[in-house]
Amino acid sequence: MQEIRWNPVLSEWVIIASHRKSRPVDAGASTQASCPFCPPSPEVEGEWDVKVLPNKFPLLVPDPPLPESSDHWLYKVRPGKGVCEVVIETKEHDADLADLPVERLKRVLEVFADRYRELGARSYVKYVFIFRNKGKEIGVTLHHPHSQIVCFPFIPPLIKRELRSSQQFMKKRRKCLFCTILDHERKAGQRVVFENESFTVFLPFYARWPYETQIFPRRHIQSAADLKPNEFSSLADTLKHVLVGYNELFGFSMPYIMALHQKPTDKGNYRHYHFHIEFYPPYRSRDILKFPAGVERATGTFTYDYEPESRAQELRAAFARAGHAK
Ligand code: ZN
Ligand code: ZN
Ligand code: FE
Repeated sequence: MQEIRWNPVLSEWVIIASHRKSRPVDAGASTQASCPFCPPSPEVEGEWDVKVLPNKFPLLVPDPPLPESSDHWLYKVRPGKGVCEVVIETKEHDADLADLPVERLKRVLEVFADRYRELGARSYVKYVFIFRNKGKEIGVTLHHPHSQIVCFPFIPPLIKRELRSSQQFMKKRRKCLFCTILDHERKAGQRVVFENESFTVFLPFYARWPYETQIFPRRHIQSAADLKPNEFSSLADTLKHVLVGYNELFGFSMPYIMALHQKPTDKGNYRHYHFHIEFYPPYRSRDILKFPAGVERATGTFTYDYEPESRAQELRAAFARAGHAK
């Protein structure tokens, strides 16, 4: 079964993809011998830096079956239509994205922008979500470095909320919500973790995750497709600092979720939106994980057990220690 069901209580869609239960979840899937992104897998033969492949266990597909009919008029269903791809960032099975030189990170970002443009041009793709899960703590079973692309036939709820807030802010104040936050963070300085010629990294005043950071371009743009060549280089440099900085923080390879927040591709007007990248590492200290539990999961309100400002200071110090490794 592959379909999208409406939750009339929360007013949101749920993606049902029952075939995904057969995807590899055992630790064996993480060894190089059984890795689908390593030879002898035919798709990865030949020379390449970055490889884009269809996801073999897609949440959504371009030609989904007709949905099963719902058993109540309240329960809307629609086909599980979309596209899912994987972006393999290196041939090195045991590498970490943080190991790649800045030039190679730039290639990865250019591929993200290309896929955003190309997949977003399809009429049924309303939102191109590009993200990266790293680490067994996040639930990753396939350890070969890769990012994922999920193209939704609707705008997902968190994105909708960001769009609504920034649109209302623009209407009322005639300026961008994100630019306003960025200006303030740069003036205040206490939550800024890193900055280069075109990007600023900070731990949000309103962080949900202990060591959450966000990368904001200082130019008001809506997606990675709007980046100029020098900005791709600058973003690659920023990304390198974030990745090695996180690994430096506790002295081990830091797991995280990395998410690109870009404007929807439904041809709407989103001039009020501002492209950014969010990072959520799951640790709240060197040996304790933050588990979203009762309050977070059942009410949607996040709790933060330390001061964001001191964690920003820790991160800033770790980023500085990690230095400018290219
Ligand atoms: Zn591999
Ligand atoms: Zn802006
Ligand atoms: Fe965001």
